[in-house]
Amino acid sequence: MAGPRITVVGSVNLDLVVRCEALPQPGETVTGASLERFPGGKGANQAVACSRLGAAVTFVGAVGRDPFADEALVGLREAGVELEFRGTDEPTGTALITVDSGGETTIVVSPGANRLVGGFDLAPSDAVLCQQEIPDEAVIAAWEQASGLFCLNAAPARRIPVDPDLAVVNRFELESLARTDGLVALTLGAEGAVLLEDGEEVARAVPPKVDAVDGTAAGDAFTACLLVSLLEGRDRDEALARACAAGALAASRLGAQPSLPTADEVDAILGA
Ligand code: ADP
Repeated sequence: MAGPRITVVGSVNLDLVVRCEALPQPGETVTGASLERFPGGKGANQAVACSRLGAAVTFVGAVGRDPFADEALVGLREAGVELEFRGTDEPTGTALITVDSGGETTIVVSPGANRLVGGFDLAPSDAVLCQQEIPDEAVIAAWEQASGLFCLNAAPARRIPVDPDLAVVNRFELESLARTDGLVALTLGAEGAVLLEDGEEVARAVPPKVDAVDGTAAGDAFTACLLVSLLEGRDRDEALARACAAGALAASRLGAQPSLPTADEVDAILGA
């Protein structure tokens, strides 16, 4: 069976990471380890996640005309995602990340080209998936053009400008949802997730126990897996259980895109 067709309209970043003993205080300079560079951005992460889970994915975004662009897109290319991106005069989106020896981080995101996502003309697909690292106008345009299901992961937290069919939020992002007529998935970290319809709980799932080493992209894996599972026609309980398993797998591995699981890995951890 061919997988569902999903269009992701979202952000792509290059994550620049420096590990150091202790995070610098304002005005302080500390010496860190060698610079590490990883493709990231919630849009790109979720597009890669959907593709690993068996969907045919198109990613619509924007990058700069700079050497960071190719590096930021490498994960999408390796995952076989079709790319429709604008080259802009803004720099490619960048996240400047410092990590101390205890895993505490500081992150400054420079959206750059992600601020210019827009002006697209979406081909029909089974679903359109957005996050909030692009302008509201781009989210609204994607919502207006969506021919199938519209799913919004309301991260980072900001008042959402549309009424999605499916919204995915964590505890902090819940307040950004004024009200939606659709389904709302609320993620609760290691406790799992609940699915709400008209404010009423319609499903609840607990993730398999894992040794959590890095929560980065757990929400991205969850969102992608919930959407793909629902589009595959799985019932709500099964879709939510699979999404929780995907989030747990991502939390049990280091990094963002490298930690995103395949459908086979989700089957395996659920004992299917
Ligand atoms: P976000 O990273 O967006 O805040 P969560 O931390 O709620 O999202 O994680 C998303 C999902 O990933 C959770 O619903 C859960 O299924 C899974 N998950 C996250 N952290 C853990 C963990 N420590 N152990 C098991 N599963 C986890």
